[in-house]
Amino acid sequence: MATDYYHSIHKIEEIEFLNSTTFIIKMERKGIDFTPGQHLVVGKKGESEFRQYSLYNGEDSNYFEILVKEVDDGALTPKLKKLQVGEELEINGPMGYFTISENRRKNHPIVMIATGTGIAPFKSMIASHKDMNYKLIHGVRTIDEAYEKVFYPKKNYTLCTTRDKNGDFHGRVTDFIKDQKYSKDTLFYLCGNSEMIFDAMEILKDKGLNANNMFAEVYF
Ligand SMILES: Cc1cc2nc3c(=O)[nH]c(=O)nc-3n(C[C@H](O)[C@H](O)[C@H](O)COP(=O)(O)OP(=O)(O)OC[C@H]3O[C@@H](n4cnc5c(N)ncnc54)[C@H](O)[C@@H]3O)c2cc1C
Repeated sequence: MATDYYHSIHKIEEIEFLNSTTFIIKMERKGIDFTPGQHLVVGKKGESEFRQYSLYNGEDSNYFEILVKEVDDGALTPKLKKLQVGEELEINGPMGYFTISENRRKNHPIVMIATGTGIAPFKSMIASHKDMNYKLIHGVRTIDEAYEKVFYPKKNYTLCTTRDKNGDFHGRVTDFIKDQKYSKDTLFYLCGNSEMIFDAMEILKDKGLNANNMFAEVYF
């Protein structure tokens, strides 16, 4: 687990829009160590609003990436959306404990459940830990929110869409997991909005699965 904490300024190298509201900001890494699943606290250089963003890149990348969705009337994300390459971000971190140890990866099947940009820490984990036995379930409204779908091997990935039928499953991630069977030793990692996380944990507990094997990162 990376434990060194930095406060530093990072130049933006690239901005890639995945749809009209969601974008990847790629910035200098400056040699800073992190463990996949950790996040940064990010703000515009010299300004006062800071928010948390999971690291989206794999641990071997020589840059940092974050995946950001613009929230209507949000204090920070509309400003982040207007950033240009060459501008600078102030970061604090990396920090957080939403990580998968080598022991867990080697000894357990892993199910990752995300809504929206909650897929970010899982992209970092999957890009970094080639040895994982995992399934990723991503819940979104429409197919244009299936961020970088092609990155994930089909056999590991299920897209759940609620407002169109262009995913692998039409409905919420919670509807999908209701009909799935999981072995008792499965570890569950959940990331996204609190309602999904709460509902999903209840469904998994009702299946007789152990709450000690469930780990959550609540975004909002
Ligand atoms: C550990 C951690 C990691 C996070 N990682 C990411 C990440 O990788 N990518 C990312 O986009 N966000 C992430 N978030 C959420 C992020 O920190 C901000 O809350 C979000 O970007 C909104 O910031 P804002 O200043 O624009 O809106 P604010 O002014 O802070 O909030 C406006 C309202 O929008 C709600 N809200 C926040 N996020 C969303 C959302 N995605 N959809 C709908 N409503 C929302 C808030 O609850 C609030 O009611 C993370 C949060 C945490 C705690």
